[in-house]
Amino acid sequence: MDSDLVAELIDRATRLITEHAEELTALDRAIGDGDHGINMKRGFEAVREDAERLARLDLGGALQQAGMILVRTVGGASGPLYGSLLMGMGRAAGEGAPPPALLAAGIEMVKRRGKADRGCKTMLDVLIPVQETLAQASEGPRPELLRRLRETADRALEETRDMLATRGRASFLGERSRGHLDPGAASSRLLVHAVCDVLEAVA
Ligand SMILES: [Mg+2]
Repeated sequence: MDSDLVAELIDRATRLITEHAEELTALDRAIGDGDHGINMKRGFEAVREDAERLARLDLGGALQQAGMILVRTVGGASGPLYGSLLMGMGRAAGEGAPPPALLAAGIEMVKRRGKADRGCKTMLDVLIPVQETLAQASEGPRPELLRRLRETADRALEETRDMLATRGRASFLGERSRGHLDPGAASSRLLVHAVCDVLEAVA
C-alpha cells in the first residue's frame, strides 16, 4: 500500500513539475533569477530516478530520502527549502503523525530554514493555508476534502500576486515584487495538486 502510494506520488509530482517547468521559470524570471522551473525539474527527475528504492521504504523514510535528494539536486534556495519540507514531514510520518500534523511539521522546518512566515510571498503562503484546510476538514469525506485542498491552494497562490516579497531574491525588488505570483508558491500549489490527484485515484 505504502509502496504503491510512494511510487505514484513521486510519478505524479515529477510529471506536474516537469509539465509546468517553463511556467515556473517564467514566474521566477519576473521576480527572481529565472531558474525555478529548471531546478525543480532536475530535482524531481532525480527523485524519480530513485523511485524504486524509495518505494521500498515506508512513507517517513521515503519522504526523508526524497528531501535529501532535493537538497542535493535542486540547488538555489528552493533545494534546502523543499528538502526541509519533505524531511520534516518524513520525520513526523516516522513518528506516526496524522496528515495535518505531518504537513505542520514540514512547514515548521521550512519556516526555520527560510526564516520566513506567512505573508512573505513564499511557498509558505500556499502551504500554511493548505495545512489549515487539512486540519479543519481531514475528518470529512475525502472527495470534499480534496476539492477544498485544491481550491485553497489555487486561491492562496493567487493571493501571493499582490504581496510584497520580504524574503528571498524577490525581496530585493521591493515594491516591484507586487503584481507577480510567487514561483515557490506556484510549485507548492502543483505539489498539492499532485498529492490530491493520487489520493483521488486511490479513494
Ligand atoms: Mg531562482
